Amino acid sequence: MSNQARACRAVSLAIRRGELPALGDGKTICVDCGAVAACYDHRDYLRPLDVEPVCRSCNNKRGPAKNHNGPSIVKKVRAPDSVDFQQLVITLRERGWAQPRLARKFGCSAAMISNLKTGKCIEPRYPLGAALVKLEKETRK
Ligand SMILES: [Zn+2]
Repeated sequence: MSNQARACRAVSLAIRRGELPALGDGKTICVDCGAVAACYDHRDYLRPLDVEPVCRSCNNKRGPAKNHNGPSIVKKVRAPDSVDFQQLVITLRERGWAQPRLARKFGCSAAMISNLKTGKCIEPRYPLGAALVKLEKETRK
């Protein structure tokens, strides 16, 4: 597992344990600009819980964290049959499945969905991944 994936998992566990506020309810504010926060930003993947809530555009502006040591976000090397979860989440959003709705349906954090959408987490755990793929098939017209 890459440092990035480990850091990402540590954040979702901390949210589940109540150590970090869950995002997606619009109550947590971006530390950079004061907009509603969309995700937790790492500055160093070797310090997995050293995170700050940021909105999507500030997260993009901040760029990648230190000690990434994993699959490159830019190159996105995947097996040919693997799913592009980033695109999948965007597609579902277009069909009315916003991040909080997905998080509620699948019992995961909105930050997890957000990390998929921003490419911070390239692959979710299997049950969530399978559920997202299934939902995409069900909502396809
Ligand atoms: Zn911001």
